[in-house]
Amino acid sequence: MRSIMKIVFLSVVAMCLFLPSALADNSVARIDGKNRYAVAVNAAKKGWGTASTAVLVGKEAYADALSAVPYAYQKNAPVLFTNSSSLSTDTKKGLQSLKTKNVTILGGTKSVSSKVTTQLKAMGISVKRISGKNRYDLAANIAKQMKSSSTAVVANGFAYADSVAIAPYAAKQGYPILLTNDKGLRSETSAVIKSRGINKTIVIGGESSINKSTYTKLPSPSRIGGANRYEVAANIVTKYNMSTSNTYISNGFAYADAATGASIAAKQGKAFIFTNEKSLPNATRKIIGSKKITSFNILGGTSTVTNNVTSQLKNPVVGKKVFIDPGHGKQDSGAVGYGLLEKNVNLDVGKRLNTKLNNAGALPVMSRTSDTFDSLQTRVTKGANAKADIFISIHANANDNSSANGTETYYDKTYQASNSLKLAQNIQPKMVSALGTRDRGVKTAGFYVIKYSKMPSVLLETGFVSSPVDSNILKSATKKDKLASGISSGVSGYFR
Ligand SMILES: [Zn+2]
Repeated sequence: MRSIMKIVFLSVVAMCLFLPSALADNSVARIDGKNRYAVAVNAAKKGWGTASTAVLVGKEAYADALSAVPYAYQKNAPVLFTNSSSLSTDTKKGLQSLKTKNVTILGGTKSVSSKVTTQLKAMGISVKRISGKNRYDLAANIAKQMKSSSTAVVANGFAYADSVAIAPYAAKQGYPILLTNDKGLRSETSAVIKSRGINKTIVIGGESSINKSTYTKLPSPSRIGGANRYEVAANIVTKYNMSTSNTYISNGFAYADAATGASIAAKQGKAFIFTNEKSLPNATRKIIGSKKITSFNILGGTSTVTNNVTSQLKNPVVGKKVFIDPGHGKQDSGAVGYGLLEKNVNLDVGKRLNTKLNNAGALPVMSRTSDTFDSLQTRVTKGANAKADIFISIHANANDNSSANGTETYYDKTYQASNSLKLAQNIQPKMVSALGTRDRGVKTAGFYVIKYSKMPSVLLETGFVSSPVDSNILKSATKKDKLASGISSGVSGYFR
């Protein structure tokens, strides 16, 4: 009985100890739905509750949705989608529950047929349509229906991610989104710029989207580019200092979910960024890290943004730059014992740690990825140049006495003493439980790389190559992989 009480007591203590960590993961919500119609409806319910006006776009007509968000924002309307041939069931139900009285269809009857109009009218909804001869003309006609603005956004009509990425900001500012292509400035676009008195333009995308000659034809242009859609979206968040609490994130290739995301992000005045289906791209990790974003809303189901992305977003290590320094290398073998060269053990563990951290959503950087040698100062400099958040040097131990064994973590008090201690305290127990080695604890020592690195830094002594027990452990690929997972989870614990 007493032992049962003890177990209960210890369980309660354990729960109390683990609860704060669990609560300190990043928060991730998902606006789900079984298809694009349902996702858009669910976003509308979340963002608007009820919406007397809604904007309706054809399911496949992504060009029609490009300019939709700033217009919809002015009407306080969510953007919904439909099949061309008939009103999609989920959208119909959505319009009913949103108590929508007016619908503006964007695009011609090819995108949204007249049958849909008839169906909407039968629901007691009044219908208006804005169409155009082509995507450029449609964008111009949408702009004409907006309040006047002396600034406009100009994007490539085939690079939908660019338009969608700028949409929350453009909407907030009341800027219409006009379109052109990579060949030159479209006449529809130059005409509307003139007729609307637009004297300033924000160009979205690099020169492959909107070339120099088109750029110079625009009134007082400025450009926000990027190497890819992820970077363009991230650069917009940085440039306009968008609010990043509850940042919206969608698959950069799922156009309807992206347009839905832009629409609700605009409504709530939030930042909007993109991901890949299975893993966060580097540009997205970087903006998460630099803006210290800790709360996210995913748009779409797990087929467009997988649970792996959810895990990465939840992990407090997401976007953190972790410098991994496998000790020694080349002519400097480090400790030697039982057929092991320390430099090789360190590199093996370092590479595995690099993979684990990458999978977790971090931005790891290694001082070396092969059997090369760097001076201690070079390692410190590399860590500083990488603007790393933390520095981890990986080593293995040795002693003349082969009975010496176990795992220990060092930190130094010169810079970031308390954070370095916290990092060491998070990693040390994870290493011990991964390897099953003796716990030699957390210690201080002025090892060069941790003494002169100005970010929180630790030096790990994974085990003794001079010990028959530890050397066997360090020879095992399975153990080294567990070790890397353990260090990675210790790093997450530190950022929690
Ligand atoms: Zn060493």
